[in-house]
Amino acid sequence: MEDKKALLEVKGLKKYFEIRKGLLANKKTYVKAVDDVSFAINKGETLGLVGESGCGKTTTGRTVIKLYEPTAGQIIYNGQDIAKLSPSQILPYRRKMQMIFQDPYASLDARMTVGDIIGESLDIHGLMRGKERAERIHYLLSKVGLNRDHASRYPHEFSGGQRQRIGIARALAVEPEFIVCDEPISALDVSIQAQVVNMLEDLQDDLGLTYLFIAHDLSMVKHISTRIGVMYLGKMVELASSNELYKKPLHPYTQALLSAIPVPDPDMSAANKRIMLEGETPSPIDPPPGCRFKGRCRYAKPICSESEPELKDLGGGHCVACHLF
Ligand code: SF4
Repeated sequence: MEDKKALLEVKGLKKYFEIRKGLLANKKTYVKAVDDVSFAINKGETLGLVGESGCGKTTTGRTVIKLYEPTAGQIIYNGQDIAKLSPSQILPYRRKMQMIFQDPYASLDARMTVGDIIGESLDIHGLMRGKERAERIHYLLSKVGLNRDHASRYPHEFSGGQRQRIGIARALAVEPEFIVCDEPISALDVSIQAQVVNMLEDLQDDLGLTYLFIAHDLSMVKHISTRIGVMYLGKMVELASSNELYKKPLHPYTQALLSAIPVPDPDMSAANKRIMLEGETPSPIDPPPGCRFKGRCRYAKPICSESEPELKDLGGGHCVACHLF
């Protein structure tokens, strides 16, 4: 999994959230949102991260850029483990690692002008002032398909797609190398989604960016991702190149996710029968022993309850965590 060209290497990452409420008030209990996850992202590539709501993908994204403090594990950015750096030590890395948020309505401060929203991180990092700052904001607006007149307007004057463009300009302001795109298109109209994805790809080529692209289903990530990781209940269950994962999904959960993507051709649609997952996702508070997917897996066998499958590379970087392999 280690790669010389890796910009980011995540090793054994855990993020547990302590909860104390109701009947559990006197006892320390943890939601194991991310539970021993490892992956690497090479410079200039896009790693897609998918899974159902609550699988830990957003928490992973927020933890690798230290919006959350990791519970355990290493986050090696350009050769430096940043997992345990203090808030003051992390400041130079904050500039290099940015985030585009899911909800373009909630993520922009309605009381600020677009210019001030984009310029805020320039101010925080003390990078530019006055005319230089204004020029940078105008340049960023043009980069995302907006114009300089938009700088003096407020978020409510824009459509959802335009707001997401503003969110992207804000992320680009401090010239980052790495961006976590947290479901950046799922709140947008289908007609706008492709435009935003194409723009992110153009920006990546132009500015040499590296992305962690988070989405809740596989149909959204195929186009943009170099490789794709599939998460289930805090664990990475499969990781492969985008082509390989679509052609030869191995983990039963990945197969079910892929079967849920609508196919426009009725003949192919009949051949690719949808795999319906039965049962509920177990609670991340006290995950069951063995494979966490076993309650919903049609191939489950006794060993699946006894031992937890490790993520193994079956060759060519196609990794899967399942006792079938
Ligand atoms: Fe299914 Fe067992 Fe594989 Fe888990 S380890 S996905 S239960 S076959």
